[in-house]
Amino acid sequence: MPALFRRPGYAYLPDMPASTSLLREISACRLCEQRFASTATGHSPRPVAWFRPGARILVVGQAPGMRVHLAGRPFADRSGNRLRDWMGVSDAEFYDRSRIAIVPMAFCFPGYDAKGADLPPPPICARTWRERVMAELQPQLTLLVGGHAQRWHLGAAARGGVTQTVADWRAHGPHIFPLPHPSWRNTGWLRRNPWFQADLLPELRAAVAALLREADDPAG
Ligand code: SF4
Repeated sequence: MPALFRRPGYAYLPDMPASTSLLREISACRLCEQRFASTATGHSPRPVAWFRPGARILVVGQAPGMRVHLAGRPFADRSGNRLRDWMGVSDAEFYDRSRIAIVPMAFCFPGYDAKGADLPPPPICARTWRERVMAELQPQLTLLVGGHAQRWHLGAAARGGVTQTVADWRAHGPHIFPLPHPSWRNTGWLRRNPWFQADLLPELRAAVAALLREADDPAG
């Protein structure tokens, strides 16, 4: 097991000066210490908070996986490669916090269940932090990645499940795009739902590109 998993009280701060006291508070959060200590990995909380007020695009994920936990960087994994492809952005654009905020439903890796899949995001994280984080952001485009994000942000409109919610993407637009999780486990889902790549992704890429262009040239 990597030493980082066992490092007690490890606090991750992004490689930038914390722009807000909220970011510092989240980075120091240890609310789930006991919960994570009792998982198979026995890891310590390592919040990965990646946002700055002013970002025009918001990506709402589920919770960091183990790779992200170790890297301290959101979507630093194969899911991230697929998500960046869906959005049509480079790594540099994706990780530019002045343009794209990445705020998962829980900031820490939750551990694994008995089958080796990631546990769901601990609800205490959204209860504790989410309203405050959202109050600091004013995104013009929000990507809701997976069911947890869709249920929190869309409420009753996401009750039909991920496939139905994503299929209804036009009803949520033009400022919200519900997406399936870009995990490679969902490759079969992508094959069964070809409309996602044929219809939704071109619209998503166009919306992302337009906002990035505006950020580059606000007067344009
Ligand atoms: S998951 Fe959220 S509430 Fe739990 S320790 Fe991490 S930041 Fe705190």
